[in-house]
Amino acid sequence: MKIEDNIDTFNSLVKRRGFIWGPSPEIYGGFAGFYTYGPAGSALKNKILSLFRKELSYFGFLEVECPTIMPEIVWEASGHLERFIDYITRCTKCKLLYRADRILKELLPDMMIDGLSKEELNKLIKTKNLKCPNCDSLLGEIEEYNLMLKTNVGDNNVAYLRPETATSTYLLFNRLDNYARKQYPIKVFQYGKAHRNEISPRQGVIRMRAFDQLELQLFIGKEQEMTLEEYFDVKSEKLPFLDWKTQIKNINKPNIISLEEAINSGVIQKPAFAYSLYISYFLTKRFGYEDELIRLRQHSPAERAHYADDAWDLEIETRQYGWIEICGIHDRTDYDLRRHQEFSKQNFEIVLDTSSNKKEIPQILEIAFGIDRILYTLLESCFDVKEERINLKLKPFLAPYSVAVFPLIKNKKEIRDLAKEVQKKLLNNRIASFYDEAGSIGKRYRRQDELGTPFCITIDYESLEDQSITIRYRDSMEQERIKINKITDIISKKLI
Ligand SMILES: [Zn+2]
Repeated sequence: MKIEDNIDTFNSLVKRRGFIWGPSPEIYGGFAGFYTYGPAGSALKNKILSLFRKELSYFGFLEVECPTIMPEIVWEASGHLERFIDYITRCTKCKLLYRADRILKELLPDMMIDGLSKEELNKLIKTKNLKCPNCDSLLGEIEEYNLMLKTNVGDNNVAYLRPETATSTYLLFNRLDNYARKQYPIKVFQYGKAHRNEISPRQGVIRMRAFDQLELQLFIGKEQEMTLEEYFDVKSEKLPFLDWKTQIKNINKPNIISLEEAINSGVIQKPAFAYSLYISYFLTKRFGYEDELIRLRQHSPAERAHYADDAWDLEIETRQYGWIEICGIHDRTDYDLRRHQEFSKQNFEIVLDTSSNKKEIPQILEIAFGIDRILYTLLESCFDVKEERINLKLKPFLAPYSVAVFPLIKNKKEIRDLAKEVQKKLLNNRIASFYDEAGSIGKRYRRQDELGTPFCITIDYESLEDQSITIRYRDSMEQERIKINKITDIISKKLI
C-alpha cells in the first residue's frame, strides 16, 4: 500500500499517538493556525533540536536567544512594516477576505500567478471578472495586509511579535563582533518562536501563526565571501540543485553536481554562499530523509526579496502538500546591518580586509530552518505501511522513545518485577524508555511501531532463569536473545 491510500491513516496516527494536536485549544473549537505538540511530538522536536545543536557546535556556530517582542522602530528599520505584506482581495458584497495569489490560482488554474505585482493582480481580477466563490459577487481592489502581529507594551508602546528570529540576531552585531574577538565569519544561530498573522492558515503545522524557527547567520566580509576556507573543504560535495534558469524550461528534476561545478558553471556566484547551501543540505541529510525527497530550488530574480543577491529553498517532497520549503538560504548582502546602522545611529563599519584596511559593513548569509516543517515532513517521510502494519521509520536517535519494555504477562510478579528492573536500568543510563504491560504483546508492538520506537524488550519466564531478554528490532522485526547486563551497551551504540 502506498501512503496516498493511507493519508487519512497517517493524519489520524499523528493525533492518536500524541505527535500533533489541534488546532488548539481543541475543547473550545480550535483557533486556526495554532497547534500543540503532544508528548511524542515534543520528544521528537527536542531530539531534532539537540541534533541541530550538536552539529552546529561542530560547524562553529554560537547560539543566542533574544526577546520575541520588539518595538516598532526595529520593524521600521528591518523593512517589515513596509514590505512584510500579503496582497488580499475582499468580496465586494459578502466582504470575505482572500489572499490574492491563492484565490487567483484557484480561479485561474492555468495561469502563472507567483511573482505578479499588485497592478498585474488587479488587472487580472478586472479583465477576467473574477468572482467570490462564496456569493458570486465581484472581487474588490487588491489591498495590502501586513502579516505582523501587533501588540501594546506597558503604557501604549506599540510593539510587534517578531515574524522571524533573524532580525533580533542582527541587532546584536556590536556585541557579537566583540565576543567573537573579531574573527570572521561570525557564525551564530537562534532558535525560537516567530509569529505571522496569516489570513487563512491551512496545511496544519506547515503554515501556523505561531511557529518555531532556527535561523543561522554568517556575518562575513565581502572579500571573504570569495575566499572562505571552509568552502574548500567541502567543494567536491554533490547537492541536488534546481536553478531558476532550469525551472523556466519547465524542468523540475534537480541537477546533482558538486559545489565547485555549481560555481564554475555560474549557478552560484560566491563560495561562501555555496558553503551555506552545503550546511543546509548536510543538516537536512542528518535527519535521514531519502535523497530523492530533497532538492535545492533557486528563486528567480522576480521571486526573491528586493535586497537579496541570491535565494534558494531547500524543499522536501510530501505526499499531502507537494514540495515544502523546510529551509531558506539567503544572501542578504549588507542590507540588514546598513538599515539598522541608519536607524539606530550606531556604527557597524569595521575593517575586515587587513590588506586594504578599508572599512565595510559585513555581509549576511542566512540559513533559515522551520522546525515544525522538519517535524511534519519527517513524520510523513518515515510513515510506512506494509501489509497493514504501520511503521514509523525514524532514525533511532530521533524516536520519542528509544526502547519499550514489556513483561510477557503482568500477573506473574517475578516477571513484572524484572521488567521494572530492566526499565530502571535503562532510565538510569538516561535512555528514553516506555513501560507497557497492557494488552497482548502483538498490540504492544504495534503501538510502539507507530511511535517509531526502534527497540522493544520482552521479559518472559526464561528471563527469570537465565537473565536474558528478547530484543525485537522495529524495521527488520528480527528478534534476538541478549543478556540483561548487555542491554544498555548494545542500545547506546545503536543510538548514535
Ligand atoms: Zn462574496
